[in-house]
Amino acid sequence: MEKGFKFSLKPNKEQEIFLNKMFGCTRFIYNYFLALKKEHYNTYKLQLSYKECSAMLPNLKVQYPWLKEADAVAVQQTLKKLEISYKNFFKGSGFPKFKSKHNYFQSYKTTYSHNNIEIKGNHIKLPKVGLVKFINHREIQGKIVNATISRTNTGKYYVSICCNVNVEPMPKLTQSVGIDVGVKCFATLLNGEEVPNPKFLTKYLNRIKELQRQLSNKTKGSINYHKVRVKLAKLHEKVANCRFDFLQKLSTRLIRENQTISVEGLNIKSIIQGNDLSQSISDVSWSKFFTMIKYKANWYGRTFNKVDTYFPSSQLCSVCGAINKEVKSLSVRDWTCSKCNTTHQRDFNASVNINNEGLRLSLT
Ligand SMILES: [Zn+2]
Repeated sequence: MEKGFKFSLKPNKEQEIFLNKMFGCTRFIYNYFLALKKEHYNTYKLQLSYKECSAMLPNLKVQYPWLKEADAVAVQQTLKKLEISYKNFFKGSGFPKFKSKHNYFQSYKTTYSHNNIEIKGNHIKLPKVGLVKFINHREIQGKIVNATISRTNTGKYYVSICCNVNVEPMPKLTQSVGIDVGVKCFATLLNGEEVPNPKFLTKYLNRIKELQRQLSNKTKGSINYHKVRVKLAKLHEKVANCRFDFLQKLSTRLIRENQTISVEGLNIKSIIQGNDLSQSISDVSWSKFFTMIKYKANWYGRTFNKVDTYFPSSQLCSVCGAINKEVKSLSVRDWTCSKCNTTHQRDFNASVNINNEGLRLSLT
C-alpha cells in the first residue's frame, strides 16, 4: 500500500529560487510536449508516445540549456504526468490543459533512487536541491517511493512523501454503517448519530464571503488586489487544513468501528441545492471524505460501497419499502409513510436505506 506523509518545507532563499525554477522547468516541459502532441496529432492523426517524447529530451536540453540544471527525474515524471492526463482523457476526462505560470499553486514530482530522497533530523534531502529544512512532525513509515514538492497559493512550500508500507488488516467486525451526508448536518449514521458540520466552517465562511466581495471590487493586478488575494488564499488554506483534519479523524473512526461502510452517489443533492459557498465547500468535503474512506477500507480490509446516484435513499420507506414521492424537497425533514404509517426522520431513514443497499451490493 502507498501512504503519503506531508511536511512543511522551509527552504532558504537560494533553495526557494531553485524550487521556483523547477516549477518553471516542469511546467515548460508539460506545455511544450502538450503542444507538440496536439500538433503531431493534427498533422499525422497519430499520437506521439511517451517513449517518443522522452527520446526528444536530450535535444531539447541542447536547445534550452537551462533545462540541464533541473532535476532530470522530475522532468521525466512530468512526461509521465502528461501521459496520464492523456490516458484519463481517453477514459472520458477533460482534455489536458496548458499549465499557467499565473497559477500560484505549483508542484513537481520526483522519484526515489539510491538515497536521493532522505530524512536527516530536521532536514530532508531532495534531488538537486540538497538538504532543506522542514518541520519533521511525524515519523514516516515504509520505503520512500517518490516526493512531490509544492508551493501553495500563499507561497508556502510543502513536500509530500509517498511511501510503500505494509498495512495489517484490522480484525473483522459484523457492524456496518450507512452514511447520509447533508449541508445542515455533515453526516447522519445508521446508529442515529448526527455528526455536525465542524464549527470552523461557519466561523470562516462569513469572512471568506466578505473578502471575496472586496476582491471583486479591486482592480485585477493592483497591489491591493494582491493583498486581498493572499488574505483570501490564507483563509481558504486554513479551512482546507481544518477540514482535512476533521475528515481524517471521522473516516478513521468509521473504518475502525465498521466492517462495511456505504455512502450515496452525490450528484442529485448538489443539483437540487444550487451552488452557494457553503454548498461548494460541502461538495468538496463529501467527495474527499468518501475518497478517504475508500482508500482506508482498502488498507484495512473493510468494504466500501457507493450506492447509485439515482437510488432514492430519501424517498424509500426503510420499514416497508414503499416509495414516497413527496419526500423530494429538502424542506421535508420528518414524514410518515403512506403505506405502513411509520414516521421517519429524513436523514436517519436515508442512512438505513444506504446501509441496506450497500450490503445488498456487496453480496452481489
Ligand atoms: Zn412504509
